[in-house]
Amino acid sequence: MTVERPATPPQKQPLDVEDAIARVIAGVARLGTEQIALAEARGRVLATAVASRVSLPPWNNSAMDGYAVRAADIASLPAHLRVTETVAAGQFPSRPVAAGEAIRIMTGAPVPEGADTVVRVEDTDAGITAVEIRLNRDARKNVRPLGEDILAGADALAAGVTLGPAQLGVLAAIGATAVEVFRKPRIAILSSGDELVTPDRFDEVLAGRKIVSSNSVTLRELVIEAGAEPVELGIAADTKASLREHLGRALSPPGCDLIITSGGISVGAFDYVREVLEELGASLNFWRVRMRPGAPIGFGMLAGTPWLGLPGNPVSTMVTFELFARPAIRKMRGHSALQRARMTVRIDTPITLGAELTHFLRAVVTRQRDGSLSARLTGPQSSGVLSSMALANALVVVPRGTVQVAAGTELQAIPLGFDAEFVLSPEAAGV
Ligand code: AMP
Ligand code: MG
Repeated sequence: MTVERPATPPQKQPLDVEDAIARVIAGVARLGTEQIALAEARGRVLATAVASRVSLPPWNNSAMDGYAVRAADIASLPAHLRVTETVAAGQFPSRPVAAGEAIRIMTGAPVPEGADTVVRVEDTDAGITAVEIRLNRDARKNVRPLGEDILAGADALAAGVTLGPAQLGVLAAIGATAVEVFRKPRIAILSSGDELVTPDRFDEVLAGRKIVSSNSVTLRELVIEAGAEPVELGIAADTKASLREHLGRALSPPGCDLIITSGGISVGAFDYVREVLEELGASLNFWRVRMRPGAPIGFGMLAGTPWLGLPGNPVSTMVTFELFARPAIRKMRGHSALQRARMTVRIDTPITLGAELTHFLRAVVTRQRDGSLSARLTGPQSSGVLSSMALANALVVVPRGTVQVAAGTELQAIPLGFDAEFVLSPEAAGV
C-alpha cells in the first residue's frame, strides 16, 4: 500500500523574510506543561498564575531602626517618652504603645498596636529606658503595612511570566516549592556533508581532506542559549540513505519538538535534504527566502514534527537560526515576545548591495558620546567567514530594494547574544 503524502505547495517565488518568519511562527505550537522544582525553573515561562497563601509582609513592620511612637506625642519638640521595651526583627512586641510611651524597634520588627510612627534613631538621643525625640519629620511614617507587597489570595505572579531571579524570589517568599511551566523543547540538530568531521578527527583536517562541522557546535550552543535541549544527531553523509537514517533517529522515541538540519538544501548535485524529506512524507511550507545570507531555507512538517532546514554556510546557519529558529523555540517555550527588539543604528561607511534581497550584515555596534548607536561592518560579508560572526555584536538589516546605503544613514539592527545587550561605552572602546 502506498502512503499518499500531502502535496507540496508550489513556491514559484522565494518568500520575503518577514513572511517566511511569520510562517515558521505559525507552524510551531506552544508545548505542554510540567511541574518542576523552583531550583530548576530559571528562564522557564509560568503556565498558570500563582496565588499567594500568605500576605507579605505578614505584619505591619518598621522600615527603620528607631522608636515606635504615637504621632500626637511628638507634635512639640523635644519630646520625652518612656521606652517600655526593645523589639528586634524576629521578635514581637508584648504590649501596645500608650500615650507618652515608645518602643525601641528594629527594621522589619512588628510595629505594636497604638503606634502610627517610627522615628528613626538618628533623630533621637538613642536612649534605652527613656528617649528624647529631637525631630518629627517622620510623623506617621516608616510603618510598612501588612500586605504592602503581596495580599493573601491574590496572584503573586501571572501566567506567561518568565522566571528570573526576582520572580523566583517571589515564589520562594510565598512558599512555592514547585511550579507549572512550559516544557523545555527538545531540538534535534543534524549536520550534513561528506566534507565534514567531528573535532576528534582533526588529523583529517590537518591532512587537508576535511573540515570540522562547526555548525554542529554553533547550533548546539545556540539551542542551549535559546533555552532548549539539543539532541545531537551527528553528521549525515551526502547520500539519501544516510540522511534517511539520521532523520529517522530524530523521530524515534522519545522524539523531539523541532528538527534543525544544516546544509544540503541548496541546488547542488548532492543536496538531498529536501528530496529525502519529501520521500519520508514531509509537507514543505517553503524552501526559498529572499535574504542574504541564507537564501535556501526550508520549513515543513515531518510526521507531525516541524523541520527547519538551514543552509550550510556557517554564517548563514547562525543568521537563519536567529531569524527563524529562535522565535520558534521561544513560542514553544511559552513566551509571547518572540523576536529580539531591533535598535536604530547609524551606518558609519557607505554600503552597496544587490536590491533583490534583504541583507543581514555583521556589524559592531558602539554607543557614541551623544548616546546614539553607530554601526561598523565587520569586513567581508561572505557567508563562509564565521570569524566575522565572532566579531559581530549585531546584524544590520538592509531592506529589500535598497542598493546604496550612504554613510550616516539610520537602519535597524538586531542585537546578537548576551554581550550585545551591554553596549560598548566610548571609554571601553577607546574612542
Ligand atoms: P551546503 O549548504 O551543504 O551546500 O554547504 C554550503 C557550505 O557550507 C559548504 O562550503 C560547506 O562545506 C559548508 N558547511 C556545510 N555544513 C557545514 C557544517 N556543519 N559546518 C561547517 N561548514 C559547513
Ligand atoms: Mg553540502
